[in-house]
Formats: sequence, C-alpha cells, structure tokens
Amino acid sequence: MMTKNYYSVLGVCPSASDVEIKAAYRKLARKYHPDVNPSGAQTFKDISEAYEILSDRAKRLKYDTINGFFKSSYSEKNCKTSSNKAQYEYKKQSAHSEYTNKSAFKAKKNAADDISKRINNFFEDFTKSKKEKIIPKHGCNIYQDISITIKEAVNGTRRIVNVMNSSECPHCKGRKFINGALCKTCNGTGEKSELKKINVKIPPNIKNGTKLRIPNEGKPGENGGKNGDLFLIIKIAPNSRVSFEENNIIYNVPITPFEAVLGANISIPGFDGNLNLKIPPQTHCGQKFRIAGKGLTKNEKIGDMIIVVHIEIPCSLSDDEVRLYEKLKKISSVNIRENLSNE
Ligand SMILES: [Zn+2]
Repeated sequence: MMTKNYYSVLGVCPSASDVEIKAAYRKLARKYHPDVNPSGAQTFKDISEAYEILSDRAKRLKYDTINGFFKSSYSEKNCKTSSNKAQYEYKKQSAHSEYTNKSAFKAKKNAADDISKRINNFFEDFTKSKKEKIIPKHGCNIYQDISITIKEAVNGTRRIVNVMNSSECPHCKGRKFINGALCKTCNGTGEKSELKKINVKIPPNIKNGTKLRIPNEGKPGENGGKNGDLFLIIKIAPNSRVSFEENNIIYNVPITPFEAVLGANISIPGFDGNLNLKIPPQTHCGQKFRIAGKGLTKNEKIGDMIIVVHIEIPCSLSDDEVRLYEKLKKISSVNIRENLSNE
C-alpha cells in the first residue's frame, strides 16, 4: 500500500512537529550529503524526498491520508519501533560511510572547511523555498455593512456588531483529520467559527459609504502574522426627507397652505434637538432657508442646514376647513394660470 515510509526515512514519529522534522532532516542532510559521504547519495535523495513532502503541510496531509498514518493502529509503540528500526538501518549504513568519510577526510584535509560551507549553502538553498511557507502571514480583512439612521450619522452612535470570525481548529490544528477520522470539533473544516460581539463607536458627521476601520478584528494571522482589520461600511438608511450635499444637510419640510400664506414660526425635529424656523408670509413651495452651522463638520469645515419647504395638504380635512376653502374659492379673484399661455 505504502511506497515509502517518509517518517522512517527521517527517523521521526508520524506525530512529529514541523520543528522535529526539520531538525531530523538537517541532521541527516549533514551526514549523507554526497560531498561528505559519496556512498550516501541514494540515502540523501531519500531524505530530501521525505523532507520535501513532510515539510509541506498540504503534501503531508495528503501523504498521511493516503498512507493511513492517522489510523489508530499507528500507536506510540509502533512509532517507537519504527523510529528505532530506522535509526538502526541508518547506523548500519553510516558505519560504512564513516569509514569512507574518514579516508576522504585524510586525503582532503584542507578541503574540509570548504565542504562544510557547501553543505550549509546547499541546506540554505534547499530550505529557501520552505521558508516561504513559514513566513508570518497577515490575516484577511473582513468587510461588513452597517446600517445607521441619518440622525445617527449626524450625531454619532454606538453599535454592537456581530462578526463571524474563524480561526484554526484548536483540536486538529487545521489538519482536518485526527487518527484518520474527520475532526469532530470542526467537522473536518479545519477551522473554528465564532460569533464575536464588538462594541463600535461610530463618530458623528459620518458620510454614507465611509469605511470605518476596527484594527485587529479581521481574520487571524498565520504563523504569528498580524490579524486583519475589520472594516464597517456605513450605509445611511435612505430617508425621503433628508439628503446630503457636501457638508450641507438638505431637509425637505412640509408646511400647510395657510402657513405659506400667512407666515409662521415652525418647529422642526433636528438631529441635535428641535430647530425653530420663521416662515415669512407668502412663502413659495420649494423656497429654501439656510440655517448656518447646522450641517456636517468635515475637514474642519462646518456645513449648513438647508430647509426646503413644501406646501402640503393635510390628508384629512375637517368639514369646517373644507367650508373655509369653499369660501376662499368664491372670494378669490386671482387667475393663478393667467400667464401660462404667455410663457
Ligand atoms: Zn478540527
């Protein structure tokens, strides 16, 4: 079933950590490098091949799965036997190689340092590609929309945000399998998901589409890398009455026909308390009133609130009111559409 037992080749347990595998490889590579040990070429090839697979998490997982290294039959006892056997086999081989090594050493005494250097260089080159895999990796950023009201956008607010975050499964360490069976903790996903509640302060005067950065609350980093960030994308809930133009707040406010005709002091619910506005007599529909300094504060500039009045007819009119409108109709002598044909 199994072509080569890479663990035996390196003389380590199938449960060996990355560090143990690297140490075992390094030790054997020094011993069997063809420059030191001309008869060790095949062994060197074997240990390099074993290291190639076992030092790569994905390759190792595949190799373990195919060759049944997660099976419970592979007990600690078996592991020791196998590892001892491997050491024994290598001892047998090294007895011969040490002899040849000795004669080579005597013949080329001066070259010893050079060889040692070359082995080190070789090892550095060989592991260079592996190093990429243990380079600390930053976690990914998480982007999440957050809906707030216009009032909250103007005044600022606080929100508890639920963020679904995932990290390496603590049980199988992200390897998905334990003893050949799917990890029960993570159901074979290799990740642990958790809902995290984060208390977020949304500053005042925030604009629609703003990306609010919450440092360190993104996906966890790997190999000791930094966590990603959480970005909350502000979505101001649309409101038919309010819109923004630069730092100005455009506020569409209804007034009654008699307020428009007679003028009135009206009170409007603002974003930081009520606003009072004086409507002059004979105010037109769509007329604008500017309240300075009541807009958004952005880039040290304070905007204004621009109130646009709209003459609206109340939905339900009392009989008395209707009678008064009838009276108004009778006494009115102005033809409001008089100039239409001339325009
Ligand atoms: Zn797991």
